[in-house]
Amino acid sequence: MSIPPKNLIVVGQGAAGLAAALAAAQAAHGSGVQVTLVDKAAEDEAGGNTRWSPSNMRMAAVDRVEPSFVHDMLAATQYRGDETYFARLAREAPATCQWIAAQGIEFIQPVYYLAKGPPRIQPVGGGPVVVKQLVLAAKKAGVIFRYNCTARAILRDKDSISGLEIEHAGVRETLPADAVILCSGGFEGDAAKMREHFGDGAEIMRLISPGGKFNTGDGIRIAMALGASGSGDWGGMHAEPVDARAKNSAPVVLVYPYGIVVDKNGQRFFDEGGGLVHETWEWFARDMQFKTPDRRAFAILDSRLLSIEGYERAIRSEVPPARAETLAELANIVGVDAGGFAETVAAYNAACTGDPAKFDATRCDGLKAGASLAPPKSNWARAISEPPFLAYPLVGAVAYTFGGLATDDCARVLREEKPIPGLYAAGEITGHFYATAPNAVSVLRAFVFGRIAGLEAVSFLQAR
Ligand SMILES: Cc1cc2nc3c(=O)[nH]c(=O)nc-3n(C[C@H](O)[C@H](O)[C@H](O)COP(=O)(O)OP(=O)(O)OC[C@H]3O[C@@H](n4cnc5c(N)ncnc54)[C@H](O)[C@@H]3O)c2cc1C
Repeated sequence: MSIPPKNLIVVGQGAAGLAAALAAAQAAHGSGVQVTLVDKAAEDEAGGNTRWSPSNMRMAAVDRVEPSFVHDMLAATQYRGDETYFARLAREAPATCQWIAAQGIEFIQPVYYLAKGPPRIQPVGGGPVVVKQLVLAAKKAGVIFRYNCTARAILRDKDSISGLEIEHAGVRETLPADAVILCSGGFEGDAAKMREHFGDGAEIMRLISPGGKFNTGDGIRIAMALGASGSGDWGGMHAEPVDARAKNSAPVVLVYPYGIVVDKNGQRFFDEGGGLVHETWEWFARDMQFKTPDRRAFAILDSRLLSIEGYERAIRSEVPPARAETLAELANIVGVDAGGFAETVAAYNAACTGDPAKFDATRCDGLKAGASLAPPKSNWARAISEPPFLAYPLVGAVAYTFGGLATDDCARVLREEKPIPGLYAAGEITGHFYATAPNAVSVLRAFVFGRIAGLEAVSFLQAR
């Protein structure tokens, strides 16, 4: 008598879901476990944020993390993060990256924006190549893919998972499932949830990539209906400043530290040089959305921007900046109050008393404005005085949310601190991030815990 196959269903085709499905199919090879991956989107759109992400990963090289990795992760979470989780991430990252590379993905150590941040590696071709290569590898390993299938609920028989309810072309269907791995991203694509967690205005916050619209927190709801606990900062999200006029994905403008940023009244409202760009972008973007009049601001620079080597790397907008020979004309073009703006620039320029020869865009150069300037400018304080003057209108755009499911270091979903049998989760859907996003860790943890989830789920099914 033949033994019926056991079914493992992975929900979501981003970095986490693909790593989970591939690892599971490779481990299950010939052992009677069938792996199926369902995604809400059509085949050419599936891949969530991963598809649109350059996918920088915080690795010193493909085979090692920095010695300070775990400490840095905990510091980013303001010591609210789970050390066991981040320690497992650090331990498994090298083997995982080498495994990803073995699927035909080449890694380089990219030049970052302008200033040097923590070390990183990047897949050549970024997210699109990650999705393409891992789908190919997973299909080769026997994973069945189903698109336009939205996971709606997990069905149970006593405390065992028995199925996954999906919706396909408006019709509900139950797929048999003995274990489920949820990798369906955060809730940035759900306007009502955004408003609930971040307050007024969050429901109209721009998504940084088209992939975010599919991430509506479905997996979080599905697991919580089984009693899963939450984790991470429900008031936390990763956001970045983008060109308000641009239509392309992730049109970030990250040269603002080298000039000033004003609101429509011409007033500065934060220390543009308070740190390297990845240390200030998140709160700047959030403050624009939630605290700034008309939810927008303007990065103001002068022609010296154009002589910073490689400055184009830090501007991903397809729209050129507004440009004028005088500050008054620039204010007029972008719709900033000319009087307030003139006063702000005059006060700022008067406070730029340091030696402009010390200006160095590649690091925090210590060229700070005089102490009387409010808000202060702690680095790159060089007068805005050489026409043409340039302006980028900016808005904040959300990349992903932090609040999600509680998981342990084996990617098992927790209910009152104990694993829910047969239920796993990885990637953005899981919590673990607090306060601020650790730079270049989201894809890395999606790969690492996706792979762990796939291996754990197969061991679980084989032991039954
Ligand atoms: C422009 C941009 C740049 C970024 N740059 C970096 C970077 O350099 N480094 C870094 O670490 N991070 C970066 N990030 C963040 C990172 O890319 C994501 O957090 C990460 O890729 C998330 O992977 P994931 O697999 O968890 O989710 P996703 O890649 O978002 O995939 C989720 C999948 O689930 C599917 N789905 C959702 N709901 C359902 C449902 N109910 N049923 C079935 N399927 C469903 C979606 O369609 C989607 O395919 C960036 C993000 C963006 C948008």
